[in-house]
Amino acid sequence: RVMEDNPLFNAGKGAVFTHEGRNEMDASIMDGSNLAAGAVAVITDIKNPISAARAVMEKSHHVLLSGAGASEFAREQGLEIVSPDYFRTQRRWDSLQEVLKKEKHGTVGCCALDKYGNLAAGTSTGGMENKRYNRIGDTPVIGAGTYANNATCAVSATGHGEYFIRWTVSHDISALMEYKGLTLKAASDLVVMEKLVRAGGSGGVIGVDRKGNVAMPFNSTGMFRGFATSDGKEGIYIYRNE
Ligand code: ASP
Repeated sequence: RVMEDNPLFNAGKGAVFTHEGRNEMDASIMDGSNLAAGAVAVITDIKNPISAARAVMEKSHHVLLSGAGASEFAREQGLEIVSPDYFRTQRRWDSLQEVLKKEKHGTVGCCALDKYGNLAAGTSTGGMENKRYNRIGDTPVIGAGTYANNATCAVSATGHGEYFIRWTVSHDISALMEYKGLTLKAASDLVVMEKLVRAGGSGGVIGVDRKGNVAMPFNSTGMFRGFATSDGKEGIYIYRNE
């Protein structure tokens, strides 16, 4: 929610614009202790899409709600509804005007391991700048943009969503750990630095495993990322400088 509320990120306030000049957001969340998951797509008026995703997970029998129906559900759940203008920032508007042909990304995500061994992941985005036709990316698709399973890892992804859906990126990382016994680092490197690179899908993931190991590979020029541990270790990075 903190990152959604911060206009610097492409999620919540400050989300990129669609081709038609709207903000349409997607988000998802997953609980690794029981594989419960919730997601929302094509959101135009829920202040915090990640909270709506959480409400879908905790208060509905569904996994993915979209558009007007998702708003109606959020309203019923007492979540804050805002005017679509709330998400608008001049910086993103100017950016749309500049790059009306080029697509861009800049999603936010979190992965967490608690002291009981529970893993969770959440991801929130305005999607690809200049998108059309109510396009939905990987962010609200469980197994693509978000995945968590206490047996393996929690993963949140950013990048060219169409590739992340087709390569089921976040679940593939979990599956490589589960079926092949790979470490989080080996599994996420294989998917992000080999499979996605071969496919031409740019982006990266952040992940934490059941032991607290962190991996944050990306095949793009940079990826804003950071981690913090309970024993005081932390790091914040943009480029390949770990
Ligand atoms: N993955 C997001 C999408 O395709 C965009 C991003 O990560 O910036 O909608």
